[in-house]
Amino acid sequence: MWDFFPVPAAVNVDKKIMIYNSNEASAFEVTHELIHVLNKDNPHGDYFDASNPQEVRANYEETILIWEIFDANGEDTNILMYL
Ligand SMILES: [Zn+2]
Repeated sequence: MWDFFPVPAAVNVDKKIMIYNSNEASAFEVTHELIHVLNKDNPHGDYFDASNPQEVRANYEETILIWEIFDANGEDTNILMYL
């Protein structure tokens, strides 16, 4: 069906629209894109681009958010149900 989507998840920050491939995207990748929207970032490049402060912040904040959800709901939580 939508197997041609080239990245696991992507976001348009200005329009607050996120699309993701449910067969490919991890909870971390979806949360990462959500954080870009919340911070009104201008995301580009790689998730692991340590030279881009927006990517570093998104990686840090996604980890904190996922941890808080797991901590509140238990380790068997399907994180995608909360995003
Ligand atoms: Zn990013």
